[in-house]
Amino acid sequence: MSEATATGPWAAALAAPSPGIRRLADLIEGAGSVVALTGAGVSVPSGIPDFRSPGSGIWEAVDPMEVAHIDVFRREPERFWTFYGARFSALEDRQPNGAHRALVELERRGMLDAVITQNIDMLHRRAGTRELVEVHGSIAEARCLRCTRRYEAAEVRARLRAAPDGVPRCTCRSPLKPDVVLFGELLPERAMARAHGLCERADVLLCIGSSLEVHPVAALPLVTHRAGGSVAVITRGPTPLDAQAVVRLDGDVVAELEALLSLLGPAARV
Ligand code: ZN
Repeated sequence: MSEATATGPWAAALAAPSPGIRRLADLIEGAGSVVALTGAGVSVPSGIPDFRSPGSGIWEAVDPMEVAHIDVFRREPERFWTFYGARFSALEDRQPNGAHRALVELERRGMLDAVITQNIDMLHRRAGTRELVEVHGSIAEARCLRCTRRYEAAEVRARLRAAPDGVPRCTCRSPLKPDVVLFGELLPERAMARAHGLCERADVLLCIGSSLEVHPVAALPLVTHRAGGSVAVITRGPTPLDAQAVVRLDGDVVAELEALLSLLGPAARV
């Protein structure tokens, strides 16, 4: 434990960094390629609940694995959109937090090659991450499965609000499907291939805010590990990758990433 006695808003910044953070900073400074893999835990400080945690509001009334399913979308678009529309609205005004910003800053300093995310909330984009692989898609767009026409989120929201049956529709009248990967769907091949390549080449893979339980994304850290890279796990609660992790940080993701940033020089790899 830290022996720092500072209190108040600067206490976290002034506290002596944990040995894990120091080790991670050393790894990053010595690495040729660093990649981040993020999950729901990164968005929790922005007020977006992780549906795998209990007490998560809208997720309690329904089982998302049952309703956010491609078969429900195809068979019962009203039921799908009753559920998904609420989630869609809940994400509308969410803002990036310190964890998103820390990753943007690492990329700006040339210390992070890319962010691979399981999150669909667009917060990495909004924060300014440039190299971003959204393996579960995002809410940025929706498309018509019949005529393939695409609609931006604002237009989908307008159509959702105006729809008498609560189903936003294409001009061809077919229900719009959000550009996210639903249960029962395969992950986008191109995004997964890109994620795989990044993980294979990474000297350090930072797994942040993910329970690493959802396959096939959960297998990505093993790609890095088998290729000889180091895997760091920064998340609350146990993960199946803990045994392979060279650094395991269990604290708040924002505090851990800000502490990491403060240890890394402004241009360590330039
Ligand atoms: Zn259409």
